[in-house]
Amino acid sequence: MAPRPFEDEAFGGWLGRLAAKYRISVAQLWASGQIGELPELTCAGWLLFPPVDELVLGRLAALTHVGVDRMVAIQTPAAWLSGRCSLPYCFECLVLNPLDIFSPRWKREWLNPSAPPCEVHDRRLETIPSSTLRTLGNLNAVVSRIGKRHGRRRKRYLNLISTPRSQN
Ligand SMILES: [Zn+2]
Repeated sequence: MAPRPFEDEAFGGWLGRLAAKYRISVAQLWASGQIGELPELTCAGWLLFPPVDELVLGRLAALTHVGVDRMVAIQTPAAWLSGRCSLPYCFECLVLNPLDIFSPRWKREWLNPSAPPCEVHDRRLETIPSSTLRTLGNLNAVVSRIGKRHGRRRKRYLNLISTPRSQN
């Protein structure tokens, strides 16, 4: 069964999860589902997916058995679409979805060009470059790339605190 969108999820993020489930890219998902022509994306790629019309939503609903209303609710507002050199996210929120720990999800609020700091974790959002995002086909690829970045940082930190002071 196709994954259901979460209420706070970005439409593009949900598409990315859907594509990941079938181990294909969002572009391939779009083509294989005969949904129509892939809309023109901004330089940030499919995460910042432009709002789509009723016809497209109807085809997606037939394909995924997700109600059109649910998809309408998570559309990207047209006002948020702009060419950006990076997209912000909170790593903890990305990988720790309180509703389903096995389903990392891209929060819709992060796509807002004036996204505030993370209210859950009380910290500034980090960013991933659009040039990197464009090379990643689905949400698993994005999560794994971001996870590696954070893993390296944690390792550096652990090395730092485990280095005996006498060697400094
Ligand atoms: Zn957070």
